[in-house]
Amino acid sequence: MFGEIKGLNEECGVFGIWGHPDAASLTYYGLHSLQHRGQEGAGIVSTDGDRLYNHKGLGLVNDVFGPGDLDQLEGNGAIGHVRYSTAGGGGYENVQPLVFRSQNGGLALAHNGNLVNANALKHQLEGQGSIFQTTSDTEVLAHLIKRSGYLSQREKVKNALTMVKGAYAFIMMTEKEMMVALDPHGLRPLSLGILEGAYVVASETCAFDLIGAEYIRDVQPGELLIISENGLESERFSSSISRAICSMEYIYFSRPDSNIENINVHTARKKLGKQLAKEAPIEADIVTGVPDSSISAAIGYAEESGIPYEMGLIKNRYVGRTFIQPSQELRERGVKMKLSPVRGVVEGKRVVIVDDSIVRGTTSRRIVTMLREAGAKEVHVRISAPPIVSPCYYGIDTSNSGELIAAKMSVDEMCEEIGADSLTFLTTEGMTTAIGREDSGSNCGQCLGCFTGNYPTEIYPDTVHPYEKV
Ligand code: SF4
Repeated sequence: MFGEIKGLNEECGVFGIWGHPDAASLTYYGLHSLQHRGQEGAGIVSTDGDRLYNHKGLGLVNDVFGPGDLDQLEGNGAIGHVRYSTAGGGGYENVQPLVFRSQNGGLALAHNGNLVNANALKHQLEGQGSIFQTTSDTEVLAHLIKRSGYLSQREKVKNALTMVKGAYAFIMMTEKEMMVALDPHGLRPLSLGILEGAYVVASETCAFDLIGAEYIRDVQPGELLIISENGLESERFSSSISRAICSMEYIYFSRPDSNIENINVHTARKKLGKQLAKEAPIEADIVTGVPDSSISAAIGYAEESGIPYEMGLIKNRYVGRTFIQPSQELRERGVKMKLSPVRGVVEGKRVVIVDDSIVRGTTSRRIVTMLREAGAKEVHVRISAPPIVSPCYYGIDTSNSGELIAAKMSVDEMCEEIGADSLTFLTTEGMTTAIGREDSGSNCGQCLGCFTGNYPTEIYPDTVHPYEKV
């Protein structure tokens, strides 16, 4: 994935399995396949039915789990998390799953998404005496569960879920059961599978493929799954459902081998590229894509336009992650380190370069300059998504609004800024048509917030864009 240099980062990935003797090891492998969703921290909590075992740390899954660590994570149930630092910032205490212990037992919590009313709830809970252990928005749910006056754990969880707003795919686990919840808009992807009789839940289906699990279905918006020795039970905690899955999951974040509600991500990206070729044709000699996430769209553009696809850019995979170099100047240097033009391919050619987004414009400018320095005669930039004009409040780091180039400039001005011969974005209608979800309604079941400024949930007066704090 290319997000670290572009300024687009996924928040997190979650994984859970219940009823398998190798629960912790399978979670470890599941987290590996979700690593692209977060590289700053990882953790696994397991249970043997009597107690919770926990291991987590900062860094990649490989860095966090060394020889012997998985042996400590006993039991047939486990949940795991990979984290990109968002609301509340980085730091060990915010690495998930979070674990809370009380006289009634433990609760482990893994969350992908961002709660838009976390601040308001935190103020309220602190006013009632709650003391927070972390600065993460996720902890709010644990306090709400604890404070719910209902008798059964299930009712407590359902009650708490009705109070949090925003984007959430939660996996929770006590010593006795695993619970899985998706927000009423289904903003983040979450799928259910099965492996040798054990239920598996993951942010993306690529995790199922890696461990050999079979996909059953996607978790539904407003649904609470309870998985225990009694099997799988499904309940609703919200009746007001309107699907608005993050468009960026299809365009950019999810792995091409994942399916989101039976739509393969690579295929969706290819269709986005084909649609782009219809909407923004140009005479050129070659089409190339920005690796890795834009390759599928570039192949689609090439197929539709009849212009050959060539590998005009390659990615140097072994340079350090650039999000630890936050200044503009260093980011630009990071781009230079990460990508190289293939001179023998682009020299003397009219090049169409397909990318999936422009955030600050820095990356695009560097790429155009790079291609020209390598001898490209013309450089035409085609973006397989609409311009990002508003920030995301749901757990995607699209930078804050002041940094978004499309919020400040027209397409012509952006074209000049990045030094391209032409620049065209896909239309919003073209995007939803190409992805091809079957949902009715003007948003076709997708969140379009960062493209239109119209968000599927209320944005509260004290909703803080998570990345303005870190
Ligand atoms: S605002 Fe954009 S990035 Fe955020 S959830 Fe919606 S579509 Fe995804």
